[in-house]
Amino acid sequence: MTTQTAWPENVIARYLTDAGKALADPTITVDLAEAPGTGDISGACRGCESTFDDSSYISRNLGTGRHWAQEHAETCRALPKPA
Ligand SMILES: [Zn+2]
Repeated sequence: MTTQTAWPENVIARYLTDAGKALADPTITVDLAEAPGTGDISGACRGCESTFDDSSYISRNLGTGRHWAQEHAETCRALPKPA
């Protein structure tokens, strides 16, 4: 049984990556966050550290962010560098 950890502040959606799925590690995710006030959407993969800003999507709205995060999570096999 895995325990749920608290999400970082402003994170609104989290997608388990392919690597996280293979290892049953719920911490390897792509996180989408919404900045308070501005509503700016940002996203980052905790496996390979690529970000929504690095993507080729022109639009930066929530729908596009969700699409990027879902698509990236499905294919990302990167493992986070050990601390
Ligand atoms: Zn990644």
